[in-house]
Amino acid sequence: MTRKIAIYGKGGIGKSTTTQNTAAALAYFHDQQVFIHGCDPKADSTRLILGGLPQATVMDTLRIEGAERVTLDKVVKTGFKDIRCVESGGPEPGVGCAGRGVITAIDLMEENEAYSEELDFLFFDVLGDVVCGGFAMPIRDGKAEEVYIVASGEMMAIYAANNICKGLAKYARQSGVRLGGIICNSRNVDGEKEFLNEFTAAIGTKMIHYVPRDNIVQKAEFNKQTVTEFQPEANQAQEYRELGRKILENEDFVIPKPLAMDELEAMVVKYGLMD
Ligand code: ADP
Ligand code: MG
Repeated sequence: MTRKIAIYGKGGIGKSTTTQNTAAALAYFHDQQVFIHGCDPKADSTRLILGGLPQATVMDTLRIEGAERVTLDKVVKTGFKDIRCVESGGPEPGVGCAGRGVITAIDLMEENEAYSEELDFLFFDVLGDVVCGGFAMPIRDGKAEEVYIVASGEMMAIYAANNICKGLAKYARQSGVRLGGIICNSRNVDGEKEFLNEFTAAIGTKMIHYVPRDNIVQKAEFNKQTVTEFQPEANQAQEYRELGRKILENEDFVIPKPLAMDELEAMVVKYGLMD
């Protein structure tokens, strides 16, 4: 059984970093077979796994070679610990709908049976907090069964998380998708843990793990590596190992109850995030 997981969150919050580091930890420490499908037109969801290899995205390959010539060996690459990677890519900037690429790429992977049976985990790393069009596809059409939202104690990250929950709640019944928790990717904001604990409880979920902010993430990134590949004994690698374990053992899957704007604002005021 493959666990199909979509990672959502505000742009820049750390989705791609967290997805790749968790995937690397799942493969290295927990012996799991992992596939990462990058759904951001930036196509930077798999760079740390592939060691920065230039990636032929699905959309680029489609444009250059035409639909019938896109084969898995052209677009699916294997990196650290045999983690398989694909990037949807996007249209040329300013032309066409970016979400289109997500749909095209997922359809193509399914037609070619890229998400093979023996996979333990399939991660979709999905752009920003846009839960419309192609970016909603993983949760709308049952491509992903589980969602984790990356957030921090910053106001805008929580607003985005709440919006994503609105999208999730809307599609959950038809698609069966459920929220597995919120991953706190710390920004060292005052009261961050308390705020996120209160917010997650209010929407009916939990903070599955608190990932500290640590410069080793950037050092590893500079070397085009995850922390686990760069320095498996480092504290931060153990954090991702722990997050991986919690995801492995998670049994709490819910339809979130997003907060009304006034409730969310009251919480933001209480934690002093307005000043
Ligand atoms: P997203 O995919 O959500 O747009 P990224 O994963 O690209 O965001 O993260 C943006 C930057 O934040 C990365 O370049 C990375 O260096 C930094 N970052 C993310 N998580 C951490 C962390 N836990 N500690 C230190 N830096 C981090
Ligand atoms: Mg990203």
